[in-house]
Amino acid sequence: KAGLKDGRIKMKRYNAATTSSEDLKAALQRPSQRSTEMIMGIVNPIIKDVRTGGDEALLGYTHKFEKATSLTSPVLKAPYPQSLMDLPPETIEAIDISFENIRKFHAAQKEDKPLQVETMPGVVCTRFARPIERVGLYVPGGTAVLPSTALMLGVPAMVAGCKTIVLASPPRADGSITPEIVYVAHKVGAESIVLAGGAQAVAAMAYGTESVSKVDKILGPGNQFVTAAKMYVSNDTNAGVSIDMPAGPSEVLVIADKESNPAFVASDLLSQAEHGVDSQVILIAIDLSEKELSAIEDELHKQAMALPRVDIVRGAIEHSVTLVVKDIEEAMKLSNDYAPEHLILQLKDAASVVALVENAGSVFIGEWTPESVGDYSAGVNHSLPTYGYAKQYSGVNLGSYVKHITSSQLTAQGLRNVGGAVMQLAKVEELEAHRRAVSLRIKYMDDNKL
Ligand code: NAD
Repeated sequence: KAGLKDGRIKMKRYNAATTSSEDLKAALQRPSQRSTEMIMGIVNPIIKDVRTGGDEALLGYTHKFEKATSLTSPVLKAPYPQSLMDLPPETIEAIDISFENIRKFHAAQKEDKPLQVETMPGVVCTRFARPIERVGLYVPGGTAVLPSTALMLGVPAMVAGCKTIVLASPPRADGSITPEIVYVAHKVGAESIVLAGGAQAVAAMAYGTESVSKVDKILGPGNQFVTAAKMYVSNDTNAGVSIDMPAGPSEVLVIADKESNPAFVASDLLSQAEHGVDSQVILIAIDLSEKELSAIEDELHKQAMALPRVDIVRGAIEHSVTLVVKDIEEAMKLSNDYAPEHLILQLKDAASVVALVENAGSVFIGEWTPESVGDYSAGVNHSLPTYGYAKQYSGVNLGSYVKHITSSQLTAQGLRNVGGAVMQLAKVEELEAHRRAVSLRIKYMDDNKL
């Protein structure tokens, strides 16, 4: 059986030509998650507690879940003492390079000037962007240190010009926070770091507490408790808060052909499989022979066995599959249906295949573009839609931190030009005050010979 302890680490293989479409669909099912009701049942009381109990309730949950019983204040305010961001120079350099690339790519997404269209003579419509004033960025911290997520969420907030940036991340058991995260918070100008995780951190940012600033939007990945809490608060009109997107476990889909390097293909599959046992990795192999498929499978096993997180990899590989297809069209059809968070094209003419991509969070083109460059340093964002949500959501980008406002401005002639249509539609909808707002102005123009 695939992924058995101590057994060979191997993905289940299907040949699309000899597999029914139902079986193919079943093979591409994401691993099932715990039921939303069950998770909500756990999360709802936590949210209510923090909403009413404020800092004390928040601290209580941090003592319970993070075992950080020595923590006496749930918030670290800027400016952060240098002693909390003491890092080796090579780590500082890596963060600085990544920061700059992410900054450049997101700054380029800024709209220089308002969009302006004269829809009829004298009728001018514009659209302009303004930053969301206060954002709360959740940086997961349960099982791994994730300064890269702090960068991916914090840099665009800074570039967009959000006035208040609050970062939240669960502290370590001794009550401290990873220095890499403090350094990123300092670089992006975050006003504070909430030392809490899970539903309690989300609730604190959504409603505010004595020491946690209330925010207008919460962004960032997290486990099912975090996601459920984000969904709850975004549905509560008392919170007045929005969220980026629902998040699920990480996933990758690699499309490889005869030109691809088996070691590269295996390394890309494994770099997602090590995220968590609930991660899923898919290989779509175009017209590969038995020998070529075995070469990838041998590499996968060999490289996996050398990884420190081999046990997590085993779990993820249990529900991961290889699909053998005949051509790129068939491969892209399956990929677009699956809508992967990450799509890697290890193909001869990879760049030309991008035109066929309809659904994906982020695309990695060609053999020299491992997904890890996008995870950390290339400049693209790694906070991406999972679980098939790439069909309707974009990954985090500059637009996630702004809202668009429209305006219209008419001249007297403009109102004459469009007024007839307005008055007729107001009549159809029987909204007489609407109709009169136009008709009395037109009468005024007529009376005053304008
Ligand atoms: P986390 O910070 O999301 O969650 C930790 C918190 O979960 C704890 O603080 C606690 O409050 C809460 N929690 C744990 N057990 C609980 C329980 N039984 N009841 C109530 N609350 C409980 O950290 P994590 O658990 O390590 O999860 C990180 C997640 O983020 C992973 O799923 C990972 O794949 C995902 N992630 C995604 C991306 C991305 O860009 N898509 C990036 C980084 C991480």
